[in-house]
Amino acid sequence: MSYPLQQKLQKLTQNLWWTWRPEVRAIFRDIDLEQYHKAHRNPLRVLREVDAAFLEQRAAEVDIQTRADRALRQLNEYLNPVTTWGLVHAGTLQSRPVAYFCAEFGIHESIPIYSGGLGILAGDHLKGASNLGIPLIAVGLLYRQGYTTQVLDASFWQHDVKEPYEIEDLPIVPALDPEGNPVHVTVEMPGRLVCATVWEIKVGRIRLILLDTRCEANSEEDQALAAQLYGGDQRMRIQQELLLGVGGSRALRALGITPSVYHLNEGHSAFAILEWARHRVQTDGLDPWKAIKEASAGTVFTTHTPVEAGHDRFPAELAAEHLQPLADGLNLPIQDVLGLGRINPADSGAPFLPTVLALKCSRRANGVSALHGVVSRNMWQCLWPDRKEEDIPIGHITNGVHTATWLSAELNKLFQYHLGANWMESIVRPDLWMRLENIDPAEIWEIKQVLKARTMRLVKSRVAEMYSRLDLPEENLPACDPEVLTIGFARRFVPYKRPDLLFTDLDRLDRLVNNPERPVNIIFAGRSHPADGPGKSIIQRVVQLCQDPRFRNRIVFVENYNIHIGRNLYQGIDAWLNLPRRPLEACGTSGMKVVMNGGLHISVLDGWWAEAYDGENGFAVGNGEIHADQAIQDQRDAESLFRVLEEQVVPMYYERDRDGVPRRWMARVKRSMRTLAWRFNADRMVMDYVRNCYLPAAVASSCQMPPP
Ligand SMILES: *Cc1c(COP(=O)(O)O)cnc(C)c1O
Repeated sequence: MSYPLQQKLQKLTQNLWWTWRPEVRAIFRDIDLEQYHKAHRNPLRVLREVDAAFLEQRAAEVDIQTRADRALRQLNEYLNPVTTWGLVHAGTLQSRPVAYFCAEFGIHESIPIYSGGLGILAGDHLKGASNLGIPLIAVGLLYRQGYTTQVLDASFWQHDVKEPYEIEDLPIVPALDPEGNPVHVTVEMPGRLVCATVWEIKVGRIRLILLDTRCEANSEEDQALAAQLYGGDQRMRIQQELLLGVGGSRALRALGITPSVYHLNEGHSAFAILEWARHRVQTDGLDPWKAIKEASAGTVFTTHTPVEAGHDRFPAELAAEHLQPLADGLNLPIQDVLGLGRINPADSGAPFLPTVLALKCSRRANGVSALHGVVSRNMWQCLWPDRKEEDIPIGHITNGVHTATWLSAELNKLFQYHLGANWMESIVRPDLWMRLENIDPAEIWEIKQVLKARTMRLVKSRVAEMYSRLDLPEENLPACDPEVLTIGFARRFVPYKRPDLLFTDLDRLDRLVNNPERPVNIIFAGRSHPADGPGKSIIQRVVQLCQDPRFRNRIVFVENYNIHIGRNLYQGIDAWLNLPRRPLEACGTSGMKVVMNGGLHISVLDGWWAEAYDGENGFAVGNGEIHADQAIQDQRDAESLFRVLEEQVVPMYYERDRDGVPRRWMARVKRSMRTLAWRFNADRMVMDYVRNCYLPAAVASSCQMPPP
C-alpha cells in the first residue's frame, strides 16, 4: 500500500462505509474543517477541492497517512469477512439474492436521493444488511435535481430552494454487466420508450443501483422524468414508478442477477411484480396467472403509513394508458391487470392503487410496528371481505435504526470500554445490555453534557444565521444555555403530528419554560411537503411564537431539518417529543436514535412507543385511548402532555445529588437504553425480515423457478 495519499483517500470515499465510521469521517474533517462543512461533509468534494500542497501540509500535521492506511485496512477486512450472520443464516440467498426496492435512500446528507423518514429507514436497512452480510441488492432512482433547502421568508413562510449538485461529487460508478459493459434499460411509456442508464454505489458490502434518465436517447422531457423525488403530477409519478419497478427489474436482469425475493419497501415499486411475471411469460412461456402467482410468492411488501393520502391512487384511464404494455406482455386483458390494483376488481371506473397491487400480489405484507399491523389489517380488510380482521394476511416487523450511524462517537467509546470492544456485533442480545449496570450514571451524564454543548452551539449558530438574514432583532436570539433542560421536536410538519400541541395553552407554556428555578428549552425543526399549506402554516405559527417576548429566549426553530441537523439533535438533546394523533404514526424512528444517545422519549402511545414503553423507560402522553372527536382528542393529549412535563419530566431532571447528577433521571436513561437498544435497531429488524420474510419467500418462489 504505497500509492500516493490522494489515491488512498479517493479509495476511502468510494464506499459509503465511511458514513458510519466517525474516525474515517474525521480524516476528511481534519484536512480542512471549514471546507468540510461547506462541502456538506462530502469527502469526495473535500478531496476534489483541496489544494495538493495544503493536503501535504495537513497530512504531516494531523497524521493523515497513517489514519488512511488504517482505515483502508479495516475497510478491506470488512469487505472480506471470514464469516457473517448472513452466511450462517441466509447462505441460501447467495445465488439468488433479495432485491430491495425503494423510491428513496437516506444514507448521508451528501447523497441527495432521500426526502424523509422512509428513505432514512431504507438507508438504515442497507447498512444493517451490510453489517450482517445479507445477500441483498438495492434498487432506486437517481434524482438529478438534488435536494431543496428549506428557507423561511420574512413572514416565516417556507420556500423550497433548489440546491443542484454535481454528479462527480457522488461516489457512483456505472453498473457493469457480467461482460464488463455499462448497462442501459428501456421502459415502455405512452407513445415512446424511455431509456435509463444504471449507476452503482457501494454501501459497505451492499450494492445500491440507481436508474438515471439523463441519457442522450431520451427527449428533454424524459431526461427530467426522474429529476425530482416525488415531484410533478400524477402522470410523472406513475412514470417514475414504472421506471423504478419495471426498469429496476430489467436492470437487475441486465446485470446478470436473478433475485429470489423482491422486497418492495412501500408501494412505489409495486409494478416490479408485474414485470417479474411478464418476463416469465415472455421468456419461459409461463401461463400469466401462474407467473403472477410465482412473482407473488417471491414478493415481500412493507406498507408504511395508515394515512390515506400516503397511498397513490391513479385514475383508471391514466393507469390503463400506462399499464397496457405490461398487460400485452402478460397476454392478459388490461382490465384484468387493472383489477389487481383495485379494491373492487369489478369496478372498472375505480382508481388503481399500487398499494393494493402489492398487498394482493405478495406472499407477505407487513406494517412497521405492532400497532401499525393492527391498523393496517383493519384498513385493508376491504380486500379480503370474507375474512375476519385477525385473518387478514398483514403482519408487522417493527422498524429499527442503524446504531453506528446515529450513536455519538463519545458514547460508543464508553460502551466499547464497558460492554466490550465489539459490543455492536451483539447489539440484539438483551444480556449485553445488563452490563450497563457497571457504568456509573455520572459518567454518562458527563458525556451527555459535552454532546449537548456541541448541539447547542450548532443550534445557536444556525438560528443566528437565519435571524440575521431576516433582520430580526438581536434580543430575539435564544440563550441556548446547556444547563437548561432541553427538549426537541423535529419531524415533518404536518397537522397529524401536532407540532403545535404545546401552543394550545400559551400561559401554561410560559410558566413551564420560564420557571426561574427549572426553565425549559424547546428546539423545533422540520419541513412541510412543498404542497402542504396547512403544514407550512404550522411552521409559520411556531416561528412567530419564537419571536414572542415570553418565548424568544427559550423556544427556537432550526431551519432545514435533514440528516445532519437530525444527528446533532438526537445526540445532544435531553428529551424528545413525539405527539402524533394516534394511530396515525406508523412507527417513528427518531426517538430510537435519541434513546441510544442517552435521551428520554416523551411520546403518545403510538407507533413503536406503544410496544416499547414499560412505565419507567421514558414518558407516555395520554393512555392510548382514541376519541372519535379530534378536537377532544387533541385537548386531552395537550392536558396530558403538560402534566407529564410539569409533574414528571421537569422535576426529575432538576433533582440533583451533591455532585449535580440527576440520579433518578439517569436511572431512567439507563433503563431506557437497557430495555430498548437491543430491540429497536437495524440488525434486529433485518434479522426479522430474513427469518420471517426473505427465507420463506425465497423457498416459495424457487419451487417454481427453473434451477439456477
Ligand atoms: C430518523 C429520521 C426521520 C424519521 O423519524 P420520524 O420519527 O419518523 O420522524 C426523519 N428525518 C430525519 C432527518 C431522520 O434522521
